[in-house]
Amino acid sequence: MTKKWVYLARNAKEELTKTLGHEPDLLERKVILGGKGAGLAEMTSAGLPVPPSFTITTEACVEYMRTGEFPEGMWEQTLEALKEIERETGKEFGNPANPLLISVRSGARESMPGMMDTVLNLGLNDETRESLARLADNEWFSYDAYRRFITMFSDIVMGYSREHFERKLRELKEKQGVKTDPEVSLEGMKELVAEYKRMYKDHFGEDFPTDPLKQLRLSIKAVFDSWNGERAVAYREFNNIPHDWGTGVNACTMVFGNIGDKSGTGVAFTRDPATGENRLYGEYLENAQGEDVVAGIRTPMKIAQLQSVMPDIYEQFSEVAQQLERHFHDMQDLEFTVEQGKLWMLQTRTGKRTAAATVKIAVDMVHEGRITKEEAVMRVDPEQADQLLHPFFDPEAKLSATERGDLLAKGLNASPGAGTGVAAFDAKRAKELSAEGKSVILVRPETAPDDVPGMLASKGVLTQHGGMTSHAAVVARGSNLPCVAGCEDIRVDLERRQFTVTDTGRVVREGDIISIDGGTGEVFWGEIPTLEVEYEKQRGLVELLSWADEIRTLGVRTNADLPKDARRARQFGAEGIGLCRTEHMFFDPRARDAVVRMILAETDKERQSALAEMLPFQEQDFEGVFEAMDGLPVIMRLIDPPMHEFLPAREELIDEVARLRCTAPDSPELAEKEYMLQVVNSLWEVNPMMGLRGCRAGIMYRGLTEMQTRAYFQAACRCAERGIQVIPEVMIPLVGHVNELKLEREKLEAVAKQVMEEEGVEVEYMFGTMIEVPRAALTAGEIAQYADFFSFGTNDLTQMTFGYSRDDAEGKFLMAYVDGIDTGEVDAEGNPVLFSILDANPFQTLDQTGVGRLVEICVEEGKAAKPDLEIGICGEHGGDPDSVDFCHRVGLDYVSCSPFRVPVARLAAARAAIRHAK
Ligand code: PEP
Ligand code: MG
Repeated sequence: MTKKWVYLARNAKEELTKTLGHEPDLLERKVILGGKGAGLAEMTSAGLPVPPSFTITTEACVEYMRTGEFPEGMWEQTLEALKEIERETGKEFGNPANPLLISVRSGARESMPGMMDTVLNLGLNDETRESLARLADNEWFSYDAYRRFITMFSDIVMGYSREHFERKLRELKEKQGVKTDPEVSLEGMKELVAEYKRMYKDHFGEDFPTDPLKQLRLSIKAVFDSWNGERAVAYREFNNIPHDWGTGVNACTMVFGNIGDKSGTGVAFTRDPATGENRLYGEYLENAQGEDVVAGIRTPMKIAQLQSVMPDIYEQFSEVAQQLERHFHDMQDLEFTVEQGKLWMLQTRTGKRTAAATVKIAVDMVHEGRITKEEAVMRVDPEQADQLLHPFFDPEAKLSATERGDLLAKGLNASPGAGTGVAAFDAKRAKELSAEGKSVILVRPETAPDDVPGMLASKGVLTQHGGMTSHAAVVARGSNLPCVAGCEDIRVDLERRQFTVTDTGRVVREGDIISIDGGTGEVFWGEIPTLEVEYEKQRGLVELLSWADEIRTLGVRTNADLPKDARRARQFGAEGIGLCRTEHMFFDPRARDAVVRMILAETDKERQSALAEMLPFQEQDFEGVFEAMDGLPVIMRLIDPPMHEFLPAREELIDEVARLRCTAPDSPELAEKEYMLQVVNSLWEVNPMMGLRGCRAGIMYRGLTEMQTRAYFQAACRCAERGIQVIPEVMIPLVGHVNELKLEREKLEAVAKQVMEEEGVEVEYMFGTMIEVPRAALTAGEIAQYADFFSFGTNDLTQMTFGYSRDDAEGKFLMAYVDGIDTGEVDAEGNPVLFSILDANPFQTLDQTGVGRLVEICVEEGKAAKPDLEIGICGEHGGDPDSVDFCHRVGLDYVSCSPFRVPVARLAAARAAIRHAK
């Protein structure tokens, strides 16, 4: 038996049940019939006014793409379905006495609006046109339909651009002194049709095809082919839609919106797609076919106006809209036609909407009892929730900036949000300009701790180098600053205080205004107005997240270093601090001086005195953090980065020393700089990220761990004294061998005990380690003996597992690994064939097969050694939805992420729980 390729809308569900041996759900129906086909079948079987139709399956398209031919039996089944439609309508395809006209429309599993082709008015030729005129009692209309058909067929099926035909129409309107199509005279329309037929013959050397079956056959082929059209391929690539799905082809009885004033065509959403408000939203155009609305030649009326123009139709349409929304449990995007006072539904599909509307509609539908809280949670993509938390550019202003050619460059979308301001090329200048009341964008080759005050005084940060876990990206995300990092399209020239866009040579100087979009990585010339958002006012989102909290099993903590970030994260729903990067507390310039003195110290005494100066800064911030997290755990991580990061850059020192040797050879300044350079040289390492950092620094710099521990426990004890419920946890970074942990733990426990005795307060605490070095993951059983908890530092773990530098890889080769390496080959259309080595940037989305494997081994062996071991993650992946899903699956206790990702993680964790409950 040949396969069934064609389904009538009126019994598609039953027939599909027979074919499949089970009743298909909506998704399955969409997979086979395409979204439009499934919608037509659904509306037809619900008894709504839908013109009779049939659908050729997406499977037929897939087969056609494979062989270049219609699959066996498909054409015969098409003719049979056509006969059914003829029976239903009492009309006959190609019969001049009573002609049936049809449209042929594409329709993929997921809607790809406007990306594929449609041909209307099939079945027209000189004879059928005449009877159409007679039946509609409107000759003008018959010519209008005919000229539209010749245009569409020539353009879409035969590839003879519609522009040639449109030009003739424009010339005719000019000649007749009219503006719109319906004003063209009957004579004019007749002339136009004759002219079109001549043009077709001149172009192709043969007459316009009058055989309706030939028209149909060629149109079906054209719709199949449009699946691989340039627009469609680009759309699929952008939206990650697989290329092997294929499109369905829907043949639908024509109804006409262009038979005078009692006819028209409309599109409408059952709710406002911009805001989500529950009201019909759309447009209606009198005396027109669908394409006229898109062409924008005449201005359609708002759908609400239809109420006064055609009250009955409006009423009926509103009811149908409601019915469809109830049926599909979601906002629908509808297409309809009114033919001489009768409503016909042509399409229903899930409507596309903004992030704000997505949340509002999902939450409203729960209140209306139409969907469950779980369904609402599954409807909102965590990235959409994220969009609602950051300032963003006015979309129209951004579009016009792009159209004006003001899009300068594109880098990594390192921290979302939009920022506009004057470019400043160092932190000091950024602070000065900000103090003058200016908005500033700090532009740097890359950033270091020295730049932090300047970053915090700015509205955004742009760096030429560095990746998603670079200093700039991490600090910006923690502070909710928009950041575009690794923008290798620009060359920053600090000496000239400017950057140049490599491709275009455009130069941006200090003081010029630029705008950056950290959500997309775009950098613009000039100011783009920004729209602000406030989390507390987003009532829909707040409610949706409270449902997510009821559903999720994974905890959500935050990476926050300062009391203000901790407070913000708690507002966003953080259940504790999973990572407090204590070195960030030394951003305060006074604390920085003490750190520098500690590093430069030549004697133990000097070091101890510098450490004593550092202590109060830490203690004060720890107290603030404990206050903000009253009743919730706070993980303090001992200092982590290589110490040279706290000192001036080596290159700058070399320059300054050289300059001073010429200009002020005997100055104390030169002596100071020379000494500093000597220290920096002694600290210099070829691979600082694999050097003296993490617990290695704590071990080698005597007194450092002790000072940090003392500050932390003093703060904990003093807060506890004040009635704050403290839950301290201390974490050791970059452990690779169990003995590192053993040593640090002994030191730390002694200090903690001593402080508690001094303060006369007992606090319970946990001691744990980060898992950032592959060896630690592989020896988790041993390590767990000395740890109450593990926290995966997946930034470093990714760096060390792949051997990719987290600071340089994205700017050098990693993005090409993701986007695809040019193989030197070209495809059938002459485009270069690219080969992607990686599916995604592993610093953004956890590499589940490699790094994830280490995580799994570590969880298994860690828990085997210590069943109540608490395990979390605090790398940047903790706020990435796919990575959160992985963390849920491998049984972690919590994820920890930057404050503004907390809502995203809450939602992602709930979605993971729902997804994997089955
Ligand atoms: C990590 O490595 O994942 C981590 C959280 O530590 P940091 O980013 O501070 O190195
Ligand atoms: Mg780390």
